Amino acid sequence: MAHTITLIPGDGIGPEVADATRRVLDASGVKIEWDVQNAGAAVAEKRGTTLPDEVLASIRRNKVALKGPIGTPIGKGFRSVNVTLRQALDLYANVRPVRSLPGIEPRFEGTDIVIVRENTEDLYAGLELMIMPGVAQSIKLITERACLRICEYAFDYAERMNRKRVSVVHKANIMKLSDGLLLECFRKVALNHPRIEPNEVIVDACAMQMVKNANKLDVIVTENLYGDILSDLGAGLVGGLGIVPGANIGLDAAVFEAVHGTAPDIAGKGIANPTALIQSAVMMLHHLGEHAAAQKIENGLLATFERGTRTADLGGTATTDELTRAVCEAVGRA
Ligand code: ATP
Repeated sequence: MAHTITLIPGDGIGPEVADATRRVLDASGVKIEWDVQNAGAAVAEKRGTTLPDEVLASIRRNKVALKGPIGTPIGKGFRSVNVTLRQALDLYANVRPVRSLPGIEPRFEGTDIVIVRENTEDLYAGLELMIMPGVAQSIKLITERACLRICEYAFDYAERMNRKRVSVVHKANIMKLSDGLLLECFRKVALNHPRIEPNEVIVDACAMQMVKNANKLDVIVTENLYGDILSDLGAGLVGGLGIVPGANIGLDAAVFEAVHGTAPDIAGKGIANPTALIQSAVMMLHHLGEHAAAQKIENGLLATFERGTRTADLGGTATTDELTRAVCEAVGRA
């Protein structure tokens, strides 16, 4: 039976990497009917909104979406589509595996971290105001409900994926109430998961640890802003934004997307690296229970990198099309 999935190609390099990902999924033999929906800066010009209602309706209906990067027109009063989607669909867990690939010089051999980022609150709640001219305030909103469920998600994920340890990343020494609440919830949830080792790391120490010895980290659970920053740091450790995938998971829907943005500097040149979105699609296939197809694509991708085929962001010369063709061929053989 075919899966019906919402596809949002997005802005900038989005359509190029989305097309590449569709081709690789086709090569795996998995049956997908795409419900293509447009959102983002290009749509805003025609429709006056970056997120037309039918896009949200499509994801609600299909429950799964694959999404390219989307730009937010700056200073025109548009809210970020990414933030709106996460809040509207309550996609509370943002899962970002940071893993080295063969043939790419990582900072540390065998880096394999998974960042589980709370996706709906913190400084992203959009609660900002000018108290008076020259004085701005952003409210960092942290709730017990969100902390408990993100910690539950991280421990469940660790158990499911045979990981050993979950580290909560916080700054409770300074933000004693807000980050203190996360810490308290983490300790409570850890008691229900005796097979997983709980660990507590202050965010600045975590940043240093990632740069000095990332292999000491396993699963990380953290707030929205810390997770955003640490996942880009993680991407840098393993070769850059072109390869790191992501999933936004809620109880009723899941949206799979790369960590990178629209990369306007290379959009339309045919040189974008589609690996991050392809790896996001692999996560999507696992979510759909299509484990065999997911494994085929993963093996094809690894074989392609082992053979040294790489796009310019990783020091290679392959175009998006050449890398895609190489991966499709390898998937066909896998
Ligand atoms: P946005 O405003 O949408 O976040 P940005 O350019 O500020 O866009 P990214 O899109 O994340 O941020 O890109 C940061 C840098 O990484 C850019 O130089 C971009 O070209 C490069 N980059 C990001 N993704 C890719 C990719 N898939 N392939 C090649 N280079 C990429």
